[in-house]
Amino acid sequence: QAVEFVSDPVDVERERLEELIAEEEERIKTIDETRKSLPVYQYRDELIKAVQEHQVLIVVGETGSGKTTQLPQYLHEAGFTKDGKKIGCTQPRRVAAMSVATRVADEIGTAVGDKVGYTIRFEDRTSERTILKYMTDGMLLREFLTDPELLSYSAIMIDEAHERTLSTDVLLGLLKDIVAYRPDFKLLISSATMNAQKFSDFFDGAPIFNIPGRRYPVDIFYTSQPEANCLHAAITTVFQIHLQQDPGDILVFLTGQDEIESMADNLAETCLKLGDQIPELVICPIYANLPSDQQRLIFEPTPEGARKVVLATNIAETSLTIDGIVYVVDTGFVKENVFNPSTGMESLEVKPCSKASADQRAGRAGRLGPGKCYRLYTKWAYLNELAANPTPEILRSSLASVVLLLLSLGITDLLNFDFIDKPAPDTLIKALELIYALGGLNENGELTKVGRRMAEFPTEPMMAKTLLTSSELHCCQAVLSVVAMLQEAGSIFYRPRERKEQADKARQQFVQTLGGDHLTLLDVWTKFVENGHSVQWCRDNYVQYKSLLRVRSIREQLERMCERMGLLDNETDLEHDRLVVGVMKSVVAGFFVNAAQLSKTGDAYRTMKKNQAVWIHPSSVLFGLKPPPKLLIYNELVLTSKEFMRTCIPVHEKWLREYAPHYYSDK
Ligand code: ADP
Ligand code: MG
Repeated sequence: QAVEFVSDPVDVERERLEELIAEEEERIKTIDETRKSLPVYQYRDELIKAVQEHQVLIVVGETGSGKTTQLPQYLHEAGFTKDGKKIGCTQPRRVAAMSVATRVADEIGTAVGDKVGYTIRFEDRTSERTILKYMTDGMLLREFLTDPELLSYSAIMIDEAHERTLSTDVLLGLLKDIVAYRPDFKLLISSATMNAQKFSDFFDGAPIFNIPGRRYPVDIFYTSQPEANCLHAAITTVFQIHLQQDPGDILVFLTGQDEIESMADNLAETCLKLGDQIPELVICPIYANLPSDQQRLIFEPTPEGARKVVLATNIAETSLTIDGIVYVVDTGFVKENVFNPSTGMESLEVKPCSKASADQRAGRAGRLGPGKCYRLYTKWAYLNELAANPTPEILRSSLASVVLLLLSLGITDLLNFDFIDKPAPDTLIKALELIYALGGLNENGELTKVGRRMAEFPTEPMMAKTLLTSSELHCCQAVLSVVAMLQEAGSIFYRPRERKEQADKARQQFVQTLGGDHLTLLDVWTKFVENGHSVQWCRDNYVQYKSLLRVRSIREQLERMCERMGLLDNETDLEHDRLVVGVMKSVVAGFFVNAAQLSKTGDAYRTMKKNQAVWIHPSSVLFGLKPPPKLLIYNELVLTSKEFMRTCIPVHEKWLREYAPHYYSDK
């Protein structure tokens, strides 16, 4: 007769534990192997030595060589965090800061927010234990307000310096000073191959450390004719590759979230139609507002027999390295800020990218082996229509935020500030004029109390002024909601392709034509709160739960600031109409420069100050309204086929004279 055994639960537990330990060891081993296989690893000791010997070091290397993830770790291992100081690493983009911090936390075996953390606007995932801190360049800039010598850092790495964002450029100027009076402080500037010499020159001949990269040849293909519809061409190209070419993942360069979402929908739909007739296509969009668990998908290995297609903006040019890419599809466009100092107008425009960008994009196909790049433009366009290099942001954006920040740091001689590329004096003057008109400067050019408060807010000065004014008008809580909603304005309403009509009908219940988009957004927020922040309510009403959660977190942070400043002390319960007027006046007080009035012919609007033609964006609740509002204020301008005003609120002319008497004195 057989003897029966029952397993001892303790033993089972131990087995499971041993399994887990083995898994963890395996994970550490693979991470360790990956770290050692990166090109920077061979230069680890040399790099550490160079940092010890030189205060400023420029590091140049191909994308994927390990600069961002490894260099801060090397400095940590070399003892730069011993005395309790941190190592900071800046990124031009939020997604990159989040993604890289997550990766490094994994490598070190800690949770994000523990030893390794990140800070982006409205989201701080760091703690007092954090020693490796990834952050957007804008956030480090703001740290100067509280820690002007950056004493909590032993070293800073300005990553992706070649991108030349506005914040990076200002940081370089400020850091040059710190380097001069803090001999213990180390500065690393890391850049893709272009422009390295310029950084070295700026830092008085700082040495350039080259990390030789591996790069395989990439075959470039052009279209024979210009493509009228780039998105359509991109979709077709992806399927051509998928059906005709050898295995290997695809990376598509698009201009923004809208395009990425629309292409992702379209690819998914086509795949569904074709079903089993084609191999699996794994569609991975990546943009800042995408929830982080979905952002991680782009790094997941592609399943056997399937092909991954990553849809990205120029973030994938150099800031994110995605392994496995063999094919690149390049639409040749980029979305950029464009500022016109003569009109004071700033707008977002989709423009052809530069040759340098196009070459970086193509390079992404040749990291693992020979690759192919499909450019959706002609060779003639590449040679004749693309600029050689991108224009640094400081030369093409409004400088109001930056000027306000520099002024609050006590830097008043802006014309002689050490910028790596000096902005046009006109642009600086425009910025000063705007801050003056907002009440941030007095006649002697000194910062006022309002100015210092505006600088404290992590939003642009115009938004800060709106909040400050709302306090005087007893409606700070409502304006806080509006301001928080405006940060996510583009991703509040959900409009799936298959249920457009239901979605539009659902949106209709929030629409406040008299109060424009701002009060419509406020209504969504109010109902969301009334319904207990419910997911189901969001689903039923076609609004995006994830966006509203972000709004909630942004709102909480701004509310805390307002509370600290005593801005909530005046709050009274206003009846609806007075509240609406309060919100409108607050917006006028901050955004009066963005006023536009209905033209005589009644089809377009003209900006009040410079008489430029602008149109209401079709996504606005004011679009097509009869009769159209006579005067409105827009939150931002987007240039596509025309200059469109996105997110608008109707206002009265007398308020402009009330809140911006100097600015509109000639009216
Ligand atoms: P560089 O900054 O020089 O472009 P990185 O340090 O960003 O290089 O990347 C080095 C390697 O780290 C990449 O090739 C990739 O294998 C890995 N890696 C980076 N980020 C992630 C991530 N978020 N998830 C998984 N792997 C990553
Ligand atoms: Mg990098």
